[in-house]
Amino acid sequence: MSAQFEVVNPATEEVIGRVADTGKDEWLAALGRAVQAQQAWGEFAPRQRAEVLRAVYEKITERTDEFARTMTAEMGKPFAEAKGEVAYGAEYFRWFAEEAVRIPGRIGRAPAGNGDILVTRTPVGPVLAITPWNFPLAMATRKIAPAMAAGCPIVVKPAAETPLTMLLVAEVIAEAVTAAGGPRDLVQILTTTDSAGLSQTLMADERLRKITFTGSTNVGKILVKQSADNLLRTSMELGGNAPFLVCEDADLDLVLDCAMQAKMRNGGEACIAANRFIVHESLAEEFTARLTRRMAEVTMGNGMDDGVTLGPMITAKQRDGIAALVDDAVAAGATVRCGGEVPEGKGYFYPATVLSRVPSDARILHEEIFGPVATVTTFSTLEEGIAAANGTQFGLAAYGFSENVHTCRRLAEELTAGMVGINRGAISDAAAPFGGIKQSGFGREGGAEGIEEYLDVKYLAL
Ligand code: NAD
Repeated sequence: MSAQFEVVNPATEEVIGRVADTGKDEWLAALGRAVQAQQAWGEFAPRQRAEVLRAVYEKITERTDEFARTMTAEMGKPFAEAKGEVAYGAEYFRWFAEEAVRIPGRIGRAPAGNGDILVTRTPVGPVLAITPWNFPLAMATRKIAPAMAAGCPIVVKPAAETPLTMLLVAEVIAEAVTAAGGPRDLVQILTTTDSAGLSQTLMADERLRKITFTGSTNVGKILVKQSADNLLRTSMELGGNAPFLVCEDADLDLVLDCAMQAKMRNGGEACIAANRFIVHESLAEEFTARLTRRMAEVTMGNGMDDGVTLGPMITAKQRDGIAALVDDAVAAGATVRCGGEVPEGKGYFYPATVLSRVPSDARILHEEIFGPVATVTTFSTLEEGIAAANGTQFGLAAYGFSENVHTCRRLAEELTAGMVGINRGAISDAAAPFGGIKQSGFGREGGAEGIEEYLDVKYLAL
């Protein structure tokens, strides 16, 4: 039998599946099939492509419970949240079905009057997507759907922790594509434990034309360097360290609801999770006390059990990394308001935790926590607050809260991030461009911008 690796349920530590551990020959063969698929898919008119995407949306939606159960089993998030991710992940197919028929072009007269300038778009070509484990469905569908809509074949390498959801998506896509007479290999999944080997092999092959990556900043930098040899198009959705700035005149009821959304969605294992609560000194104690009450009400357990609102972390290593950040902050003088201790027993659990009085040089304020830990620091003037919010190398998401229209406008302008939520704790939307600046990467997923990542511009002089 060829090589396989195990998939583990992080709540029970039980093996729930085994998948192929593919190697070089399989990777290159997949790229060859992708090149073939591009030709066949190129014969599909935009409207036909749109209809296939729409069919994928319908099929995933019909199988919501099955997708959600698979995600909860391999990744740990509560079943209700997994269902939310199915809706969100499927939505990219519906959205890009609607964009497939709206790929823009333009025509203009040359200024010298000696001809016309016609601008069109062509598909980039075969794409490699590398995706993380935290949103096993949506992080891939926001790459697959625009690639298909633009006319590109795509090979996806899911995280080794969460390949099962992706294999299920591939099955649904193959069904919809082949039912329409399209190429079965338009979307291929390569499961492997050798991510570095796969990316090096495929990126060194001139037939590949684009790499799109969602994951950590460190790996993103490696991939950007590797992409230079063949000058690949690149999209990099990398790490974050989102500030959550609460101004003096904010509405605390709204702030608390948004804080729980921005911190606890996906157990804090989200790139746009609020990492740093920066609160005006006049509200800080009330905010911290109320947040602590809300966090203490969180029910931790197996995501399939009723009433559970916080599942396990993905691995023991991830859980231990979070614990180390908390311990480091406490050693530096932070106060634990709730949580803060790894529970006994099976599963990689870490409790909802609030830390106040966190010293400004504590590691936890400068690194992505990727877990259910809220840190609270204070500020006195708005300048100080905005400076603290922007004082990070990352620039993915930022949140700001105020009831004053002038302050809101200032926050919108001065918070340096690719995405800014004003009086909002949930910002993800398939119809909006998702992505970061600074060390959070470049490129956008979703919105009208998302399809541009898979299109080349072609100028015709007529
Ligand atoms: P990771 O970078 O360790 O892994 C991401 C993917 O890259 C996985 O498939 C992994 O197998 C693969 N990989 C690892 N090393 C590689 C290498 N040397 N060459 C090629 N591929 C390699 O990240 P993770 O721990 O899985 O995910 C968490 C990170 O992802 C966080 O930093 C988070 O902020 C980020 N993230 C960003 C976004 C976004 O849209 N900006 C969304 C979700 C997660």
